[in-house]
Amino acid sequence: MSSILPIVDAAKRLSSARRVVIKIGSALLIDSKRNAIREEWMECFIADVVECKKRGQEVVLVSSGSVALGRRVLRFPARPLRLEETQAAAACGQIRLAHIYQEALAKKGQIVAQILLTPADTEERQSYLNIRATLRNLLSLGIIPVINENDTVTTPTNRYGDNDRLAARVATMIEADCVVLLSDIDGLYSADPGIDPAARFIPEVHALTSEIFDMAGDSRSGFGRGGMRTKIEAARMALNGGCALVISHGDVLRPLKQIEQNCRCTWFIPDCSPAAARKTWIAGSLNPRGALTIDEGACQALKKGRSLLSVGVKKVEGEFNRGDAVTVLSLKDEELARGLVAYNSAEAQKIMGCRSGKIESILGYTGREEMIHRDDLAML
Ligand code: GLU
Repeated sequence: MSSILPIVDAAKRLSSARRVVIKIGSALLIDSKRNAIREEWMECFIADVVECKKRGQEVVLVSSGSVALGRRVLRFPARPLRLEETQAAAACGQIRLAHIYQEALAKKGQIVAQILLTPADTEERQSYLNIRATLRNLLSLGIIPVINENDTVTTPTNRYGDNDRLAARVATMIEADCVVLLSDIDGLYSADPGIDPAARFIPEVHALTSEIFDMAGDSRSGFGRGGMRTKIEAARMALNGGCALVISHGDVLRPLKQIEQNCRCTWFIPDCSPAAARKTWIAGSLNPRGALTIDEGACQALKKGRSLLSVGVKKVEGEFNRGDAVTVLSLKDEELARGLVAYNSAEAQKIMGCRSGKIESILGYTGREEMIHRDDLAML
């Protein structure tokens, strides 16, 4: 499997991405002086999003703003909020935030869906698989998911706390190929440009060295929680998933168009595609929980890049859950592949050797058509 990616002209990196996750910071949405939504900015941003959709791109929005909107509604004073105040503000603000996106995008004929996440949702295997399936399904239906952290249930010890890393996490979950962090700064500098006039702008990063991490300072924006450090951490998550990430100044009208016109911004470029990164991860870093022995016909199908169907499975060994890594063996016990299995071991025992069309009558519910989907399968 080649991990070399074609070199894409900087101006086309965004427009050629298939699946894009865009993070919008609170300071872009809300005018702190007027204490109101920045309507003109929003309208122009939505025009950008619609343009992406029109050229066939799938778009996910990760938007902050629930706490900033909610504290305004609840008239909380301008000081750091206590946990219960933050949670109340998020509850009041999130419903308004979702409404803003729903209204603005409905005017352009787009449907939005809201998803609120916590770190546990994205790390725990079953919920991770469900979120991934829901997001993929929404995208295939042409819907724009609008995501935020579920700030009403998180606490300082169990939250992302910043939507930069949440956006990168979502991107790797759904194998997006580009994350856009619309920020209050145009990108990465060698030092804080507000303090050091000799600070150099870094337009492109290919490897996240300790030097790059050292360049990151703290956010000086009064609204958002993320600073440059969280953006670099987001970049690390994205690059590990084979996904490009760009940090760009969001405070311009048409912020996405500006990136396409090669504005000053920092691109973090991965050295492989999301699919290759995922397969490397499946092939190398997992501890298989079981094994599926398959017949010759299934071996041939796998070698042609197809999925593994239950009909080709001859033996199921080990105890595993849906989504666990298993090895795939030939009848001669050679390890052919590793993959993430779509059924648990008890279900796999029941449906092995059967055609996909029979799965529902055997298990009593409709599961996946494939025992291991080809996207979840790495040949060895
Ligand atoms: N989830 C928080 C909110 O909606 C924002 C986190 C961030 O600023 O990155 O207010």
